[in-house]
Amino acid sequence: MSKKNGKAKFAFGPKTKDYPAIVCTDLISQSEAFTAPRGRVEMGGLLLGHVDENGNNVAVCGFFPKQTEENSGYCEFGGMYNAIAAAACDYANDTVKGEKMPKLRIIGWIHTHPNIGIFLSAIDVNTYRMLRNQCHNRRFMAVVVDPLKGEHGVFLTERKSETFSDADGVISLSQELEARYHILLDRLRSIQKERGLDFLPCILPGHLRGKRNAMGDRDDIEIELQKGFFQLKKQIVQLNSNSNQNASDVKQRMANFHNELDILKKENQTLKHNSHAMLDKHTHAIKRINTLEERLLIVEKLISDLKKLQSELNNTMKNIHNDVKQTMIKVQQEIKHSQLQTKNETIDGVKAVIRGARMKAKMYTDTQLEELRKELHVITNGDINITTDKSANNAPQIAILKVQHKKLNGKE
Ligand SMILES: [Zn+2]
Repeated sequence: MSKKNGKAKFAFGPKTKDYPAIVCTDLISQSEAFTAPRGRVEMGGLLLGHVDENGNNVAVCGFFPKQTEENSGYCEFGGMYNAIAAAACDYANDTVKGEKMPKLRIIGWIHTHPNIGIFLSAIDVNTYRMLRNQCHNRRFMAVVVDPLKGEHGVFLTERKSETFSDADGVISLSQELEARYHILLDRLRSIQKERGLDFLPCILPGHLRGKRNAMGDRDDIEIELQKGFFQLKKQIVQLNSNSNQNASDVKQRMANFHNELDILKKENQTLKHNSHAMLDKHTHAIKRINTLEERLLIVEKLISDLKKLQSELNNTMKNIHNDVKQTMIKVQQEIKHSQLQTKNETIDGVKAVIRGARMKAKMYTDTQLEELRKELHVITNGDINITTDKSANNAPQIAILKVQHKKLNGKE
């Protein structure tokens, strides 16, 4: 919250401990020029000035020392710089004499708030109080500069962290007082030369910058501005190249994205096609399964029918076998019977022939007997052996025919 208090330097009576302040606007622009190129890094420094005849704290010049700690939320510089600044002021006061002239002194603390606006943080309030307590009469202002937003504020007290005013004071210095300031700035410059830029990076000549430049003094602000300018130029070139690179990257990524999209679309089509094909195959398979199941039922029925048929066939075969067996037995019996009959008939026949032969044989000669025997042999098919025996009574015309029938198991 900004509460602009244009009447800050007149708003307090003589009894108040918070003194009105006059801050040279050059100090603000020089601080911005020096700190802006550092981006979001906070920097702090000291303001040097005097108390004018109206009781104002007047900030004329200053410096930024080496920061012992600097980041985007905090800055710090060593306490020795207070001593160095105080010594430099004493030196200037001693060098340019003048009883009625105000003494040069440390009159304030300046620090930056890059891009975060103007206020006093809790740490700032403590720092402000500590630095203020070290000062004679507690005459000490705080100036906050946001070099990135181009804002600034002058604080008269640490107790009002959001109350500040613009640096709109007009500085007018007597010739003697200005000479004193030149001595102070010379002193600071010689310290800078002695200890190095790292130790004392920037002297703020404030109101006296033009004159200092004319005197041939080094201009930290100009150098810093140029450095900052080239730095910015580099950053712009880098940003340009980055943005070109980014655009090219984005294009490439878009192209990749489109390619991937195309591939996905194709895959999706293939999947669709495959799923249709799978569906067709599935339907076909189901039909085939149904057909096979129907066929299986038919085959099962056939097997069942076949089993029945086989069983029937077995029964029939059994019956046929029995019938055949019976028939065979009958036939065999009939054959036996028939054989027996034939045998009996044959035996009868043979018996008759033998009987006849015997009758004849009694009168046969040996030659006739032999012929008879041969004849009988033929008739009986060799089944009958016939021998003649004339030994009985030794009569040549009487012969006894001995018949031996092989098959008939008997003698005649
Ligand atoms: Zn701060």
